[in-house]
Amino acid sequence: MSLTGLPAVATDPCVHCGFCLPTCASYRVLGTEMDSPRGRIHALKAIAAGELELDATTASHFDSCLGCFACVSACPSGVRYDELIEATRPKLNAPELRSPAQRAFRKLLLSLLPYPNRLRAALAPLRAYAGTPLQALARRSGLTRLLGPQVEAMEQLLPPLAPEAFRDGFRLLLGCVQRLFDPAVNQAVVEVLCANGIEVVLPPDQGCCGAVTHHQGELEQTRQLASAVIDSFAAVVGPGRPAGPEPLDAVLVAASGCGHTLKAYAEILNGSADAAGFAARVADIHEYLASLGLSEAFTAQLAPLPHADGTPATAEHPLAVAYHDACHMLHGQGIRDQPRALLRQIPHLQLREATEVGVCCGSAGIYNLVQPAEAAELGQIKAADLAGTGAELAASANIGCTLQIRRHMAEQEQPIPVLHPIELLQRSWKAGAGR
Ligand code: SF4
Ligand code: SF4
Repeated sequence: MSLTGLPAVATDPCVHCGFCLPTCASYRVLGTEMDSPRGRIHALKAIAAGELELDATTASHFDSCLGCFACVSACPSGVRYDELIEATRPKLNAPELRSPAQRAFRKLLLSLLPYPNRLRAALAPLRAYAGTPLQALARRSGLTRLLGPQVEAMEQLLPPLAPEAFRDGFRLLLGCVQRLFDPAVNQAVVEVLCANGIEVVLPPDQGCCGAVTHHQGELEQTRQLASAVIDSFAAVVGPGRPAGPEPLDAVLVAASGCGHTLKAYAEILNGSADAAGFAARVADIHEYLASLGLSEAFTAQLAPLPHADGTPATAEHPLAVAYHDACHMLHGQGIRDQPRALLRQIPHLQLREATEVGVCCGSAGIYNLVQPAEAAELGQIKAADLAGTGAELAASANIGCTLQIRRHMAEQEQPIPVLHPIELLQRSWKAGAGR
């Protein structure tokens, strides 16, 4: 199979120095050159030169890539591996490169995850199971292992399902998985924005931004989802908007996997002017708030957060928080300092840095479902690293990472809660405002 459409020159700057290898999550757990960025770039060159066949075995070494882009940050030669793997992914979806079972599982995931109403319908029967003693019993008894590794991985990630995730008409900002699996994050985002004097508009019919399908190289489905999102926002800023026809100042997103895809809408939609205009207004919530600055009225009300025993943090005994950099935030959008700066505004909060900052937690879209063994190993490493800082809390700004880290944090000797940075800001503000 030929890899037509690959940017032919993009592999040239690679000098095979190997600086990217220590940062590569797949190389970390698989340990083989073919599962490293350097190995994959070498394979792409060989395929382009007609020296290597893109068969199922070669494809599996591209499938083992998490798309975390840590290698892009690490590369001194400026190799755009992100562009290379994005151009390669659609070719990996050729039917002959995956088994019927792999294809069926991917099809199931991609027909469910990007559609909040379908996902809600599928999850509704599980409300009596998720987060209950029944789930704990099923896991302890080993019953869930009978489901097979991939379905077991889905079960392991299933959090308690909050009633508000199923409320009719419940829609807050973007993030299909976030609005169902952690709706408190969207609530916190709205409260923090409003408390800072920012008018929040919630397009009622927004669907999935297409991050999951984009990550899997499903271009046509991604374009459909992206166009629908742009339309849903256009409907809000159009003549029907009660406040008038002014365009939105920003389209904010609190899940960094989504933000990375939303910012790429112009390329995804082949340079369409509407898509470019939309993408230019997309901002991650942290970069937006950090650039705008929290209002004086808001910061004046920030109070110390409590320790696990309920006593408030003090200067002598601060609350230690370990911040986890989501790959699509750090490597994909270059956002590192802003979330840390916002967290530092909380009185007596002390940030702790993990040892392996910037290495993927193993979530990576649907990676932890389709490659559960490798993802679990990475999840354990990440959870142990964050807990090993001695922090009392971990902060994660991407729902996929949060679910993955929570799952593996539960296996640690001293597990710590994992919350969104904006939830911590919200809690601090509520504590100070007496809410
Ligand atoms: S991708 Fe960059 S860091 Fe990795 S081997 Fe090539 S030149 Fe070196
Ligand atoms: S994107 Fe991540 S997993 Fe893939 S080659 Fe780069 S560092 Fe490795």
